[in-house]
Formats: sequence, C-alpha cells, structure tokens
Amino acid sequence: MQRKAKRLLKVGDVEVGGGKRISVQSMAAVKTSRVDDVLAQIKEAVPYGLDIMRVSVLDEEDGRALGRLTRESPVPIVADIHFDYRLALLAAANGAAAIRINPGNIGSRDRVEAVVRACKEKRLPIRIGINGGSLFKDHEATLEEMVESAARHVAILEEAGFFDIAISLKSSSPLTTVAANRLADKRFPYPLHLGATEAGPKEVSLIRSAAVLSPLLLDGIGDTIRISMSEPPLEEVKAGHRLLRDLELDGNWPFFVSCPTCGRTMVDLMPLARKVQSYLEKRRLPLKVAVMGCIVNGPGEARDADIGLAGGNGVYALFKKGKIVMTVPEENAYETLIGEIEKGL
Ligand code: SF4
Repeated sequence: MQRKAKRLLKVGDVEVGGGKRISVQSMAAVKTSRVDDVLAQIKEAVPYGLDIMRVSVLDEEDGRALGRLTRESPVPIVADIHFDYRLALLAAANGAAAIRINPGNIGSRDRVEAVVRACKEKRLPIRIGINGGSLFKDHEATLEEMVESAARHVAILEEAGFFDIAISLKSSSPLTTVAANRLADKRFPYPLHLGATEAGPKEVSLIRSAAVLSPLLLDGIGDTIRISMSEPPLEEVKAGHRLLRDLELDGNWPFFVSCPTCGRTMVDLMPLARKVQSYLEKRRLPLKVAVMGCIVNGPGEARDADIGLAGGNGVYALFKKGKIVMTVPEENAYETLIGEIEKGL
C-alpha cells in the first residue's frame, strides 16, 4: 500500500511524515514535575518500541521539569500545552522536541508570533490537536466542524510563516474520527497523528482504537499513532506496535500466532502461548512464530511460520517452515523454542 508523503517533520531524531515509518507515541500518565516517575514510564516502554513521549505542561513547575526530563529521556518529549503561550516558550527553552498547542487559543498575534519564533529557532514542530468534544459547549463537533477548526489554526501558523505542523483530529465517536481524518488527509499537506480519544480501559480501547486506526492506516493515512487507554504508557505502546505489525506496516517485530485450542488439545497451551507472546513482544525480529495445539493440524495451519510448537500427548513437536524437526517434553518446550530463536534461524 502506498503511503502519502506529507511534509517531513523532525521530532528530535524521529522523522514524522514524508512517507517514513509510522512512529508510536504515548503520553505520560503522571504530572510532569514528577520527573523520576515520568522517566520510569518512558524507560519501561522503550524496549517495546516507544518512539515519542508526550507530557502535559500544566504550570511553570512542569515547564522547568522538562529541562532534566529531556536531558535524561531516551526518546523525544512533546510538551502538551493549553492556552498559556508562556508555557510554550518555557517548554521550547527547556528541550521539548515539539509543542502541542492550538494557536487560535493563545490570544493576541504577538503571542502567536513569540511561540512561532521560539519554535523556528529550535526547529520544533507544532501539533494542532482538535478534540471534537471540547470545540463547542453545547454539542460534539461534526467532522466538518472539526476540519474547519483545524484549518483555522493551521491558517494562523501559515500566516506567521510557520509550516512544520502536525494535526490530530479526535472525537469520542469512532466513525466521526475516521471521516474527519479522511477529510483532513485530502485537505492538508501536513502529517496526521492518529488516535481514538477517550478510548476507555484496555479491553475497550484495543477494539475501538483498531476500529478507528485500521481503515485509515490501510488507506495510507496517518504518520504517527497513539493507542490511548486508561492504562500506563507501556500498554499503549505494546498495542501500537501490535497494530502496525498486524497491518503489515512494521515488519521489524515478530508476528505471533497461537491456536484457540479445541477438544484435540492435549497440552496446557494457553500459559505457554502467553509466555511466548510476552517474550516476543520486545524482540525486534522479523519472524513469524506459532504455538499450536495439535500435531495433526498445527504445523499445517501455521505453515508459513518460521518456527513453532505443536502439542501432542504431553509433548510438543518443534517445527520450522511447516516441517517437524524435533520433539520435546512439554516442560522444556518454552526454553527449547526460545533457544532456537536466540540461535537464529
Ligand atoms: S491447531 Fe489443533 S488443537 Fe489447535 S484449534 Fe486447530 S485443531 Fe484444535
């Protein structure tokens, strides 16, 4: 599938747009001034593929905390600011790699120009974030209203000679979010940040985010994603990479399959499948791995897996490319499989 090349932005060392790899973001779930806690959330998520972390900058204390946070963070930090242009200036001076602020909410032209000057000087992109729920007091915005609102903010930046812009359009209605992003993709030459807002706890968010993001990503729309959920960033990042992997948009991570089990299963498959999945989750390997419940159908059903296990009566057969190469007792199956993967195939 052809991805549309939007304007290429640099968020720290991460390229966003320009048809580059889709990056996975998250947002710290603690106040930014608690720098150690934010860093802990970042470091926990990095092995799972966190590319960019966003933090909210609520007050001066948060703005100043960015200094140490950006020095010690292994990934670029985006400062999320509402209204107060002085916090945007503080964030720019304290190492933020991008600013999320809506220029139409900053106030006078002088203030917009001050933010634009600071961002230009440091080469920081600005993300405009439109949230359908907060545009109007009396109703959730329609998709046209969301795109028009984005266009107004974009025009303010363009008039100030600023073009390193990313845009996000989120509504609590999944279908409105999809339609608004389709429209925005046609209208703006800037990268789109995709996500479903107020997506709920993990179980709800996983389905809802996939429902919103998949049709867009499959049409080549979207440059950076966040799977937002009422969970720590680690879970958001895992989900983001799983989605990109399943849509074949990021082949650098393993693709895992396991069978649902049935009356033919004679091994305790589910705990093994979970263990293998959690091992693979943080390995950057372009590998298809299968854990199947029976020897009769397992290897055949997972024919194109590079390596896998298929259960028998208290044993597993290890297969490579659909062919059984050895048999191992159930209790050694995990170590044997991982050992083979670590050796390289
Ligand atoms: S692979 Fe075998 S055990 Fe698993 S669901 Fe299919 S038939 Fe059942």
